[in-house]
Amino acid sequence: MKILVINAGSSSLKYQLFNTESGAILAKGLCERIGIPGGHVKHTPAGKDTYEEDFAMESHADGIRRVIELMTTGSTAVISSMSEIDAVGHRVLHGGAEFSGSVLVTPEVKDAIKRCIPLGPLHNPANLTGILACEEAMGDIPQVAVFDTAFHQTMPDYAFMYAIPYEYYEKYAIRKYGFHGTSHRYVSAKAAEFLGKKPEELKVVTCHLGNGSSICAVDGGKCVDTSMGLTPLEGLPMGTRSGNLDPAVLEFVMKNEGITDISEMLTILNKKSGVLALSGISSDFRDLFAARDQGSERAKLALDCFTYSIKKYIGSYAAAMGGVDCVVFTAGVGENNASIRSDAVKGLEFMGIKIDEAKNNTRGTVDITAADGKVKVLVIPTDEEFVIASDTEEIVKAL
Ligand code: ADP
Repeated sequence: MKILVINAGSSSLKYQLFNTESGAILAKGLCERIGIPGGHVKHTPAGKDTYEEDFAMESHADGIRRVIELMTTGSTAVISSMSEIDAVGHRVLHGGAEFSGSVLVTPEVKDAIKRCIPLGPLHNPANLTGILACEEAMGDIPQVAVFDTAFHQTMPDYAFMYAIPYEYYEKYAIRKYGFHGTSHRYVSAKAAEFLGKKPEELKVVTCHLGNGSSICAVDGGKCVDTSMGLTPLEGLPMGTRSGNLDPAVLEFVMKNEGITDISEMLTILNKKSGVLALSGISSDFRDLFAARDQGSERAKLALDCFTYSIKKYIGSYAAAMGGVDCVVFTAGVGENNASIRSDAVKGLEFMGIKIDEAKNNTRGTVDITAADGKVKVLVIPTDEEFVIASDTEEIVKAL
C-alpha cells in the first residue's frame, strides 16, 4: 500500500509517503508558513535532491494540493497520480481517555478529537485541520488517526491520578495522559524483538530523549507509567520546558516579576525554561556539549540536571515495575549522544545496569550492555512515521 503520513502543525505540515510493501519512503517534505506570508515548500523525492520553492498557501488544503502536484508531476514525481495513494495516516497529539489505539477517521472520531481540544489546545486543532484538509484535497480517501496518548491508556489509576480535588478529574478529565506514545510503543516492541523475547516477558524503561523528552515504564508490553502528564510539560527538564517543579513557584515568580497572565507564565515554562534556561546558552544538546567542553559551568549544570532526572526516572520505574530487564534510549539525543547515555546510567550498577563504553560509541540499533551488566541497555532509533503508516495500513486493510 502507499500511505501518506501527515503531521499537521498550526502553520506547518510535515509529510512522508510510504510504500508499505517495500518499507521504502518514496518522498518526504514540509510545508511551512501556511496561512501567513512567506509560504515555503520543501519536497524530497527518494534518491533525489530536495526541491524547494516559495509557495503561498492560504490553508492546509492548499499545502496538501501542492504536495500532491509535486508527488505526481515533473522531475519531483514519485507516483503517477493521487489515486495511487491508498490511505492517509495522521499524527494526533491528544486522544484524552477516548482512544487507546489508532482508529479510522469517522465523523464521531473527528468530534472526539474536537472534544480533546481543551487538553491539547495547541496541537489538536492543527491535527484536525490536517484531517479536514485531506478530505478537501483528496476526497473520501480512508484516513486514520494515531494518537500520541493512546499507548499510555493502560496506566493504572494510581499512576495517572493527580492528588488534587477529585471533582477536577470528574469535571475536566484532569489526569496524567502521557505523550510520545507511538515512539515508546515502537521502541519497546523493537527491544523485545531484538532480544528475541515476547513483549509479555519483559519489563522495559524507554527513554525518548529529544527536544521534548519523556520516559515510560512498559511492563509486559503495556505502559504502566510515563513522565509527561496532562500536557507535555511534566517530567524531565527538556530543551525549553521546565519539567517537574513545585507548583507554588508559579505564584512566587508571577508576584515578584509582575506577571498577571497565567498563560505568560506557562509560556515561560514551555518555551523559556529547561536546559535553555539552566545553561543560558541553547536548547540544542549539541551546543551544550560544545559549551561544556569549553568550560561553561552553566552548560554542565544543564546537562547534569538532565541526566540526573533520567537516572531518577529509570530507578523509580524499576521500582514501579518490581524490576527492569531492559533500558532503551531513543530520539535525537538518546540515539546520538553516547555521553548522555553514559551519564544517565552512571551509579546504577547496583541495579545491574552497566554499559560498555566502546559499544556505547557505535550508532544504529545496538546493544550497549557491559559484559557483566544484568539489565540490557539498548539504543533503538525511533520511527513514529513508520508506526503511523503501519497502523494505517492495518486498519485500512481490514475495511
Ligand atoms: P524533536 O522530535 O523532539 O524535535 P529530536 O528527537 O529530533 O527532537 O531531537 C532533537 C535534539 O537531538 C536536539 O536537541 C539535538 O541537539 C539533539 N541531537 C541530535 N543529534 C545529536 C548529537 N549527535 N549529539 C547530541 N545531541 C544531538
